[in-house]
Amino acid sequence: MPGNIRNLAMEKVASTVLFPCKFSTSGCQVTMLHTDKGDHEEACEYRPYSCPCPGASCKWQGALEQVMPHLLNQHRSITTLQGEDIVFLATDIALPGAVDWIMMQSCFGHHFMLVLEKQEKYGDELQQFFAIVQLIGTRKQADNFAYRLELSGHRRRLTWEATPRSIHEGVSSAILNSDCLVFDTSIAQLFAENGNLGINVTISIYVLIYFELERHSPFPLAKYVWLC
Ligand SMILES: [Zn+2]
Ligand SMILES: [Zn+2]
Repeated sequence: MPGNIRNLAMEKVASTVLFPCKFSTSGCQVTMLHTDKGDHEEACEYRPYSCPCPGASCKWQGALEQVMPHLLNQHRSITTLQGEDIVFLATDIALPGAVDWIMMQSCFGHHFMLVLEKQEKYGDELQQFFAIVQLIGTRKQADNFAYRLELSGHRRRLTWEATPRSIHEGVSSAILNSDCLVFDTSIAQLFAENGNLGINVTISIYVLIYFELERHSPFPLAKYVWLC
């Protein structure tokens, strides 16, 4: 069977040759074995950013600095609220079919996109809601933040806390894996008022603070990390 004959000599060459990243023309200088190319290029900082709006309707791609101008020009209907603690109000959550609600939140000098997505599974038997926050920024920047989503009311509370996604990786895989706030229609109705659902969103930033405890102490530097 010719298909099963492995060209060991060629495989050996391929396993030692370093290939450039396909975004080398955009400035990436990394070279790697062909087996590492897929993983690198998926995460490569030089890979263009896609439009962060959920759904596949907008095909825009560009540099990170162009994402906010793109949103402001092409997606003007998106509301932006200022502050680290806001309410994301999703109206008419009983709307049939798959629906996305999005909103922008600005704080700590950054922009975050809040996404609530409703999906129908098994026909319309199961409706699930997925809520998540993504940073208009790199993965590295996203690691500096935490977000909390909270539904509260009627003496009940449902909370989810996590690190925001970078728009570079997007939210679709997180939603697919339920790595976000997930709830069904019954829970949504427990918290909804007049068909609208308010989600409290709080963004926090990790701050690294270095203290020199005492100039001549045996412990010259103590490191504290906390969430403010
Ligand atoms: Zn690269
Ligand atoms: Zn777009």
